[in-house]
Amino acid sequence: MVTCAVSTCKNTSAKISKNKDGITFHRFPRDEDRRRKWEVAVNREGDWSATSSSAVCSEHFDAKDFYLTESGLRRLSLCAVPSINISPCQPSEPTICKLDPIQISSTDTPEVIELKHKVRRLEVIAENRRRRLNLMWQSKRRLRKKVDRMKTLIKHLIQHKREKGIDR
Ligand SMILES: [Zn+2]
Repeated sequence: MVTCAVSTCKNTSAKISKNKDGITFHRFPRDEDRRRKWEVAVNREGDWSATSSSAVCSEHFDAKDFYLTESGLRRLSLCAVPSINISPCQPSEPTICKLDPIQISSTDTPEVIELKHKVRRLEVIAENRRRRLNLMWQSKRRLRKKVDRMKTLIKHLIQHKREKGIDR
């Protein structure tokens, strides 16, 4: 049985299945540097270190960490590091398993079922992008305010310089 290395996460391979919940388990990278990054990211107490069977579930990766192969399989990109719902202090983000389970009827052919899963994967990606877009809009608004403040400041400075120039 595979358990998720994130201590606050209760996902195990016994409880969830890829097809039903869309959750996959990803082993720690073999590469030393990347492995270390994952170990730091999962934020375990003491001198915990990953073993060859340690894994992190897909709930802790951003949608952008995954890519779809031509055949519609979801793969984790090489540079991905777990970052989502790691610590209890982090605001929890909607994840794959919060979406309704895929409805499969007895008349569905394997192709239809595979397409339904594909649609679900794309829905997850779309949802993550929507969230990122919202964050970008927020930061755009913040930056615009900052620009406005800077413009006012510059105007004041120019005014000040002019007044000084007249004094001289
Ligand atoms: Zn997990």
